[in-house]
Amino acid sequence: MHWLNVVLDVPLPGPFDYRSEIPVPVGTRVIVSFGRRQLIGVVVGHADAPGVAPETVRAVERILDDLPPFSAQWLKLTRFAADYYQRPWGEVILPALPPALRKPSAYVGARSASGPIARLDKRRARPVVDVAADVAPELNEQQALAVATLRDLEGFSPVLLHGVTGSGKTEVYMHAAADILARGRQVLLLVPEINLTPQLEASLRRRLEHVVGPHAVAVMHSGLSDGERLASWVGAQRGDVRMLLGTRMAIFAPMADLGLIVVDEEHEASYKQQDGLRYSARDLAVWRAHEAGIPIILGSATPSLETWQHAERGRYRRLTLQARARASTLPTVRLVDTRRASLKQGFSDQLITAIGKRLEAGEQSLVFINRRGYSPVLQCTHCAWVSSCPRCTAYTVLHRFSGGSHRLQCHHCGFQSRVPRACPECGDQDLQPMGRGTQRVEEHLAEIFPDARISRIDADTTRRKGSAQALFDQVHAGDVDILVGTQMVAKGHDFARLGLVGVLNADAMLFAHDFRAPERLFAQLMQVGGRAGRHAGNGEVLIQTGYPDQFIYQALVRHDYVGFARHALKEREETGLPPFAFQALLTAEARELQQAIGFLQQARALASTPEHVCGTYGDHITLYDPVPLRVVRVANVERAQLLIEAQHRPALQAFLTAWNDALPALASTCRVRWQLEVDPLEI
Ligand code: ADP
Ligand code: ZN
Ligand code: ZN
Repeated sequence: MHWLNVVLDVPLPGPFDYRSEIPVPVGTRVIVSFGRRQLIGVVVGHADAPGVAPETVRAVERILDDLPPFSAQWLKLTRFAADYYQRPWGEVILPALPPALRKPSAYVGARSASGPIARLDKRRARPVVDVAADVAPELNEQQALAVATLRDLEGFSPVLLHGVTGSGKTEVYMHAAADILARGRQVLLLVPEINLTPQLEASLRRRLEHVVGPHAVAVMHSGLSDGERLASWVGAQRGDVRMLLGTRMAIFAPMADLGLIVVDEEHEASYKQQDGLRYSARDLAVWRAHEAGIPIILGSATPSLETWQHAERGRYRRLTLQARARASTLPTVRLVDTRRASLKQGFSDQLITAIGKRLEAGEQSLVFINRRGYSPVLQCTHCAWVSSCPRCTAYTVLHRFSGGSHRLQCHHCGFQSRVPRACPECGDQDLQPMGRGTQRVEEHLAEIFPDARISRIDADTTRRKGSAQALFDQVHAGDVDILVGTQMVAKGHDFARLGLVGVLNADAMLFAHDFRAPERLFAQLMQVGGRAGRHAGNGEVLIQTGYPDQFIYQALVRHDYVGFARHALKEREETGLPPFAFQALLTAEARELQQAIGFLQQARALASTPEHVCGTYGDHITLYDPVPLRVVRVANVERAQLLIEAQHRPALQAFLTAWNDALPALASTCRVRWQLEVDPLEI
């Protein structure tokens, strides 16, 4: 009899014992019964004897051999992620697989018995790319230097490619990738946004398919069909896919012979998964490169302070692209002091005039406002009533729908209601929208520039599959004069005709409580401003602010990332915040806030009792007082959190592992839902 350790996607620690008459290699997928369910699991180990009475151990129902077993390296990656982020191994392995490989239904029943991979091999035809169409530009001196340096790297070598916006980082990635592909190895390229993949995929295919052959360039992201995702996965594992382009999920791709990882826009928060396994794909990428003994390129115009600090200390090699690749200049950044200027519908005269000039010149403008909807709140002019969500501690946002009707919507829980005719408190009929979002900005621009072609890109206009792509295509094709957008438009896009960027409510983020808010604001504004004048030069950025003297804005005017980073890191060091400390966050949810706080208080006490195992780490760990979240109630659930801080990562890890063992029992007594997040981005 062979005793197997099998991991499953169930909220229990695992692995679980199963038996088999014949040997089953580690890394093999198996179908097993668990309770009354049938599940697909992965064999992660063998045992001489089961951990429970042998007669209670069930036999595996089916051994799936349609795919070779996952490699030891891949299992090690998932194991590391599970340990580091404090989750059961099965909750990492199974969700990492494409859905087709983890659904037992794909293997049972007469029609499916052969499994999804057998069906896959009749591949769909792919559009043929005109290879000749793309001629690589000649690299400029700094790009060439970067490529030459990358070519000589051996073993684990983390590199920060710090290149200003429009400096041609993509070109450097493509050359570095081509070198690795020519040596017969695979490349993994991560991007922060699904919307960035189509353009980049086309470039990569045009540039690299003649090196590696057709079908060797593939993508992996949540917008693919099950079949497409499966094809990319299987291709990566078999080694047929040589260049994989993907969003954060692709960090778990089972690459057979990885030779290089690239993380584009490495500072982006979207590399962090925000539910389930709360992993950072960027951080796992560095770990993976280290394990594989290969180079990794982290590219950005505004690196995260964590990454910058590694470069400052010499742990990461820094390569710099100081100038733009096409345009001869960076855009001019000007601050419009809103204390002096009189604003009409949120717009200063300067900004309106500047948009008008670009229209006359046949150039595009981008108006950036990080708020979707028509207006963030509806207010009674007579009493103090404001529209708010009955289920959350949040205002409801006014949205306009096609046909001109309006509704109130909660951005936290999705609650929707009609707009009241009169104030529910005092009966007054004068209800006014307060502040503005993308819809209202779009409406106002249409009044001022009736002949301009205006387009809006935000979460509302891009809900349908393919709609974001269609909107971006319009901008690239020059069918849009003024683009109104949220942070969706700030990332990575290379708009050829865009001359002007206007920023409306930048100050909203200036005084946020999160210690990372200044870093995020600086990056966001430098990135969105970096969309201006990328090809033609003569780009201009107008930032409307009531605080033009703030360090952030002054650094932006000077294009001074380095100065900003130095200033921000000094502050972090003085206050003992990351990257000078390491954090974790325990969050609890319950009907009543008191329940959530109570659980956190007990969890905290547990951690500090000397006789408890956690007590051993007491000197190195700080546990703060539990506090309610800023938006306390969401969908009638109240939430609180407890911050844990340590000077050293190993101390934090050891403490969390011990603590995490004790928390489930406590949580069930306290009747709360909870989650533990390591390296949280938002606090
Ligand atoms: P970023 O560094 O912001 O990612 P991109 O990679 O988008 O910049 O490059 C900006 C623009 O410059 C793109 O249109 C790209 O095709 C172009 N480009 C890159 N390298 C060169 C070069 N050596 N010569 C001419 N154009 C280049
Ligand atoms: Zn009222
Ligand atoms: Zn709500």
